[in-house]
Amino acid sequence: PRTPVSLLGTGAMGTALGRAWLAAGHPLTVWNRTPGRTTALAAEGATVARSAAEAVAAGRLVVVCLLDDASVGEALARAELTGRDLVNLTTGTPGEARTRAAWAKERGARFLDGGIMAVPPMIGAPGAFVLYSGDSDLFEEHGDVLAAPAGTEYVGADPGLAALHDVALLSGMYGMFAGITHAFALVRDEDVAPKEFAALLVPWLNAMAAMAHGTAGRLASGDLTTGVVSSLAMQVAGAGTLLRAAEEQGVSSELLTPFLDLMRRRLADGHGDEDTTGLVGLLRARP
Ligand code: NDP
Repeated sequence: PRTPVSLLGTGAMGTALGRAWLAAGHPLTVWNRTPGRTTALAAEGATVARSAAEAVAAGRLVVVCLLDDASVGEALARAELTGRDLVNLTTGTPGEARTRAAWAKERGARFLDGGIMAVPPMIGAPGAFVLYSGDSDLFEEHGDVLAAPAGTEYVGADPGLAALHDVALLSGMYGMFAGITHAFALVRDEDVAPKEFAALLVPWLNAMAAMAHGTAGRLASGDLTTGVVSSLAMQVAGAGTLLRAAEEQGVSSELLTPFLDLMRRRLADGHGDEDTTGLVGLLRARP
């Protein structure tokens, strides 16, 4: 028999997760603050609990996927957590995850935090994965259940690590979105078809994303000049071209300038033979 799952939160993500557990044959009990949002999963075989406490009482493995950390505290306020395995798939900060882990431990529950690296339609399909951190015994015991909706990636016993990785990956993504936004602004209103441009942009970004391996190697060794193929001196000189072209096209350079300014600062500090790896230290209050 498959492990029963209690799921708190049947928003867009919770519903997708619940569907994957039902499809994998796990008995599912669901609760949602607004009752109407459990209808879809109920029609697919889930049992609807009348309260969060009732859902928590239904089984050992309790998964919460709510809006934010405050909603987790609110939803679980009156639930008996002793002996429960609590898996928190609500996006939060590393600090919130650590505090929530201590909170769960005080209440007699084991705790695992998770960061979902997927949008709801990706759940149950290849490519989706969830970062986990916290109680490694919990992770190992329920590994098969957790793997039903998405791939699993355990990043460490410190409960804040999943959120840290999650936020770092999302922050990297927003840097990429900023570049994509500026690129489309440059070619917009020209004789450039957006779809044909995307066909060039996507493979280019994929190829350039692999530069992160070089950055990692330099950060790991502490030698920021080994393996540099595009020096900061060259890149700062080239940056002027990007800014002048933006001006020619009537496009604001506000998405580019914060990064270019950091590159100039590092160059002015005498690091023209590095690439952009040294900017990591510039951003940190404690380099
Ligand atoms: P939704 O807005 O669809 O659902 C939010 C859920 O939180 C609902 O069940 C809502 O209940 C509940 N909720 C909000 N406030 C409270 C509260 N005070 N007490 C109890 N329940 C509350 O969001 P998603 O399902 O998309 O997101 C859920 C989590 O998953 C978030 O942390 C999000 O960051 C994360 N996530 C989402 C992704 C996505 O693309 N959607 C991607 C990766 C992570 P009600 O129905 O009553 O409002």
